Amino acid sequence: MGLRLGERLETVRERLLRRPLAYTLDLVFPPACAVCGVATGGHRGLCPKCWSGVRIIERPYCEVLGVPFSHDLGSGILSAEAIANPPPFDRLRAVALHDEAVRMLVHGLKYRDRTDLAPMMARWMLRAGDGTVERCDAILPVPLHRSRIFSRGFNQSAELARHLAGLSGRPLLPATLMRIRRTRQQVGLGARAREDNVRGAFAVAAGREADVAGKRVVLVDDVYTTGATVAAATRALRKAGAADITVLTFAMALAETI
Ligand SMILES: [Zn+2]
Repeated sequence: MGLRLGERLETVRERLLRRPLAYTLDLVFPPACAVCGVATGGHRGLCPKCWSGVRIIERPYCEVLGVPFSHDLGSGILSAEAIANPPPFDRLRAVALHDEAVRMLVHGLKYRDRTDLAPMMARWMLRAGDGTVERCDAILPVPLHRSRIFSRGFNQSAELARHLAGLSGRPLLPATLMRIRRTRQQVGLGARAREDNVRGAFAVAAGREADVAGKRVVLVDDVYTTGATVAAATRALRKAGAADITVLTFAMALAETI
């Protein structure tokens, strides 16, 4: 009743902006590469040039550490690293190696407020999870300390976990695992310093042990580097009785690609 066109458009725009961001982007912006922004003419996510820079991790890989092998040695093979230093979690799965386009996606989500990337990244993670997400009892993000959430505004791992829960229909437990101690950023620290930095940093919230006791859980993070953070988080989940722990990350930084 008497709304001028400009006001009506504004109302439609506001309504669109309240919808899930992926919808909104499809409707408002033409399809563009999620990394470089070039028009893609389709909804594949990345342009061919950026896509060619993505090294997707597929079998053959170590069944425990998820590290790709250059040769297929048969099924169920473990890497020398997994045998020499078994991780506290049951298995690690990651979408792609942490280089080029993948690094841009991770940084976009983490530091440049590109929360619109999370649905696509979560879809790729669901596939990389190799059935573990669909079969799990609960999905938990690696938490940030509350002071860091305050300064950054959101937790990128929680964002990925939220979309994974939406895609798989499995329960999301965003408040079960807590970061009880503020830690330094892991970037720039060596492997041993990273372990020291996050030791004892995580705990299952008091009274929430039943959330994970005897359960198959998927622990979600954006990047796997030395594994110190997810190992510390895994120990807290084990202490509360978690039966089976899959670590699922978007990127895996191998030694030569860090
Ligand atoms: Zn591109």
